[in-house]
Amino acid sequence: MQKCSKCSKNAVTFRPYSGEYLCKSCFTKSIEVRVKRAIAAHKMLREEDKTAVGLSGGKDSVVLLHILKRIEENFPNSSLVAITIDEGISGYREQSIEIAKKNASALNIPQEISTFKDIFGCTIDEIMQNEHVKELGASACAFCGSLRRRALNQKARELGASKLAVGHNLDDEAQSILLNVFRSDIHRLARLLQDTSAKNENFVPRIKPLRTIPERETILYAYYKGIEFHSQQCPYSFNVLRGEIESTLNRLDDKRPGIKYGVLKFLDDLAPALRNYCTDSDFTECEQCGEPSSGRQCNVCKLLSELSQK
Ligand code: SF4
Ligand SMILES: [Zn+2]
Ligand SMILES: [Zn+2]
Repeated sequence: MQKCSKCSKNAVTFRPYSGEYLCKSCFTKSIEVRVKRAIAAHKMLREEDKTAVGLSGGKDSVVLLHILKRIEENFPNSSLVAITIDEGISGYREQSIEIAKKNASALNIPQEISTFKDIFGCTIDEIMQNEHVKELGASACAFCGSLRRRALNQKARELGASKLAVGHNLDDEAQSILLNVFRSDIHRLARLLQDTSAKNENFVPRIKPLRTIPERETILYAYYKGIEFHSQQCPYSFNVLRGEIESTLNRLDDKRPGIKYGVLKFLDDLAPALRNYCTDSDFTECEQCGEPSSGRQCNVCKLLSELSQK
């Protein structure tokens, strides 16, 4: 039996990118240390922050909630609140909301549940039944992602949160970076970095404390800590380009471990140059709804107007 690289206990996992064998306790500790380092390196949190955590019930969001709770206990002036958004995806979201509730209540963290139906007047299931949307062949994720970001920001603002923490892990970040490179979208690429320094008062700065944790390790952390999470796949989860990038990155990472960290480091190294592509004018107000927007009409208003085309 292989021994842990940090202590003498039996190892339970191997990290190909660092060559470390780790026992259960050194592994879970190392995840918490890395999250704290990412928070410090990117100045994600201050001692007096009220942090809203986007809690879907999936692995990343529940792991994030548990780790932030441990961190928050050392900062008496900080507080946490969980926000769960019900997009209205029948047969899928109901169960994840139950798991989100269980986790929030086990950690004694207040939770707010908001629905797309209440905020936007329609569910994702209804949007996907819209004739114009069907004709366009638009993906559910295009609507869902933008509407959820809006809903989370609105709710966090209403709750007086000073930060909004989301569970994006290393795999998500590496995919988003390459996706924006392939789409030649340098403004969106820059926005992956700039959330914590956003100056628009209607925009609650978003932080991603799990950005250096590989997806596989968030699952292992949950498993070793006995954290319950929702593992069912969303029935609408197919985004062709992102899916191809995901499988390509996984294949490359198998051959050259650490490649996802390389993609993330590339973005961080580019940060000084990318700041020129992300100015305050990137966040003005939408003329229609008054919410933060990068243009005269925000993406949410654009998408919702598609629904009234027929
Ligand atoms: S996979 Fe797409 S539709 Fe499903 S919850 Fe995620 S963003 Fe929404
Ligand atoms: Zn150990
Ligand atoms: Zn708008």
